[in-house]
Amino acid sequence: MASSRTFASRLGAFWSSPTGPKTTHFWGPVANWGFVIAGVADTQKDASLLSPNMTGAMCVYSALFMRFALAIRPRNYLLFACHAANETVQLYNLQRWQRHAKGWSVSDREADTHTPSGLPRTRIVVLGSGWGAISFLRSLDPKLTSAVGPYDVTLVSPRNYFLYTPLLPSAATGTVEPRSIVDPVRSHIPDTGNYLEAECVDVDPVGKSITCRYNKPFRGHSNEFTGREFNVPYDVLVVAVGSVTNTFNVPGVEENCFFLKDMEGAKALRQRINECFEISALPSTSPEERKRLLTFVVDIVRVRLVDTHDHVLSTYDRQIAIYATEQFQRQGIELVMGCRVNEVQPGQVVVTDAPTNTKKNVEFGTCIWTTGIKMHPLVGKLAKILPQGAQEHWKSLKTDQFLQVQGTGGTILAMGDAATVAQDTALNHAEQLFAQGDTNGDGVLNCEEVITLMLKARKQFPMLAEFAARMNCGGADVASTSSFMREMMHSQTRGSYDNVIATQTFGDEDEEEEVVSNEPLASTSGDAGTEQPAMTLEQFKKQLKELEKGLRSLPATAQVASQQGKYLAQVLKDNPLVLQPGPNGPTVRAISPNANPFNYVHLGSLAYIGADKAVMDPAYKDGKVGALKGWLMGFAWKGVETFMQISVKNMYLVSRDMIKTKVFGRDVSDV
Ligand SMILES: Cc1cc2nc3c(=O)[nH]c(=O)nc-3n(C[C@H](O)[C@H](O)[C@H](O)COP(=O)(O)OP(=O)(O)OC[C@H]3O[C@@H](n4cnc5c(N)ncnc54)[C@H](O)[C@@H]3O)c2cc1C
Repeated sequence: MASSRTFASRLGAFWSSPTGPKTTHFWGPVANWGFVIAGVADTQKDASLLSPNMTGAMCVYSALFMRFALAIRPRNYLLFACHAANETVQLYNLQRWQRHAKGWSVSDREADTHTPSGLPRTRIVVLGSGWGAISFLRSLDPKLTSAVGPYDVTLVSPRNYFLYTPLLPSAATGTVEPRSIVDPVRSHIPDTGNYLEAECVDVDPVGKSITCRYNKPFRGHSNEFTGREFNVPYDVLVVAVGSVTNTFNVPGVEENCFFLKDMEGAKALRQRINECFEISALPSTSPEERKRLLTFVVDIVRVRLVDTHDHVLSTYDRQIAIYATEQFQRQGIELVMGCRVNEVQPGQVVVTDAPTNTKKNVEFGTCIWTTGIKMHPLVGKLAKILPQGAQEHWKSLKTDQFLQVQGTGGTILAMGDAATVAQDTALNHAEQLFAQGDTNGDGVLNCEEVITLMLKARKQFPMLAEFAARMNCGGADVASTSSFMREMMHSQTRGSYDNVIATQTFGDEDEEEEVVSNEPLASTSGDAGTEQPAMTLEQFKKQLKELEKGLRSLPATAQVASQQGKYLAQVLKDNPLVLQPGPNGPTVRAISPNANPFNYVHLGSLAYIGADKAVMDPAYKDGKVGALKGWLMGFAWKGVETFMQISVKNMYLVSRDMIKTKVFGRDVSDV
């Protein structure tokens, strides 16, 4: 009774109030809701129909009235609410118009195959959603892909997310969560663009079309969509499919090892680590089995690292490599160096100890294969069908300095692990180099001469370092001066190796494809009268030719791929690939030879070595910079890996995970 009387008295007070229904202060705001309704209706219209002047005026008008409604006495809350709502809806419309004007409008999705001026839009099909492809898409000027722009972009990749590979080992060991280092590709493709979650299985460079296949299982529907194929035509194809892990055809690797190349591999490894922990805790597990399973437990660490080299991080400066080796040993990691893996059997790796040439077994609970890389099968297929002689490289597609694949007339571009930029080869200068190197004029190059030549010419031809290594010339000079070269040759995966049980770091050459001639070399007498290997000019040329077929001009790293993606976006802006009439239909003209060539800027290398420490191989060494290593570098590594994330969301997630792990420890739950 009392509450109904209170309500009646309140209604009466409102009815007679100075802002009540008997005044214009009430009916004015009510009428103003018409603006809000009109604004909401505008949100459904095409952004091109919006008037920026009118919408902008409405924003200012409502902001003033919001202030007015609170400034007057009594305050008019109805007026305030109405203009706050109008302000929100008009600001939303204003940003829609702005995105449209910049070429980002969502309503542009149904972009035409022609620009409004009647020119056909160039269909750019990008293969891959990794470092190269996403860096390209993110750097592409939105105006070029707008409804009025010259490009129509389609992304094809079986992976609908970008993966931040440097933190993959951290995801496997539980330092960061898998979702923290991935970002959906759809946030990075232009609004007018298209994404197809499929694998490209074939390329027809003549008909300019690709064949794609949807390969994911679709459970519960008898996989009716799996394996379906379709064609996608293109005017320009950008190949950024990366590379695949090289098993070197070592028996048992596929069946018995874990791989750290993608998120599936990292998740499988994380689960395996958890399984090892849990099984070892069961009363039914014998002490021997427990010892084998728990090769990574801190107290009884039996982390073993198998490598063909004599020290870890062989692509780094020798001082750093030695430091990392010591640190690993201090952490109780058993290093099995200078060994070549013959076979991986369940629970053990059979290796040959190079110095003694004896076989031994290395037991493991979990074996992780983190060797080098080899050519993606699609890249191999494409290289074979391009005009003869255009592609001789057996690890990647050879491009010119504008990243145009040789033998495609500029219709196919490639970057990242899938590509190698053609460079001036040492073979072109073989005679000159030989004459320069043959200081004693005996017509052959001995070890000493090769090393001297390498030191003189390595800046221009870094492959000479490897050349010396292949002559078994050895020595500290070779080791210390060939680190950049080794990086190119080995391109091994990096990152956190804590918890790694057994790894093998090989070069990225495929043994079965290894074509460097093994014919015996000539020999000369050394100072002490010992026989040294030596070679004639013909042998020198032959060896150079074979060596250069397998050499990458740049290391297979994220740094290179992302710089190439950015470069390509800029080149396609500065030199628009517009369609021209051709004998087989419209085609694009190759990038102008006057365009700026791709220029790689090496920013240095950072590697986490566990126990909060990291090492850095700086890009510029002037002799004053010593090896950068230790806790401080560990901190720098964490900062770099956080701030290099692709989005603010990922930066937040990675920093949150790192702090969480530090404070509460790793999450070992099996989910
Ligand atoms: C564990 C690990 C750690 C690493 N750490 C570092 C590091 O610290 N620093 C560094 O510089 N580099 C690092 N790298 C190397 C770096 O990740 C690669 O060099 C880089 O990813 C190459 O970029 P990309 O664009 O060529 O290929 P990727 O990034 O591998 O992307 C290839 C894309 O192609 C897609 N794809 C594959 N097949 C097809 C197909 N048939 N059709 C369509 N799409 C396809 C894939 O799904 C993927 O999206 C690391 C690599 C690994 C595996």
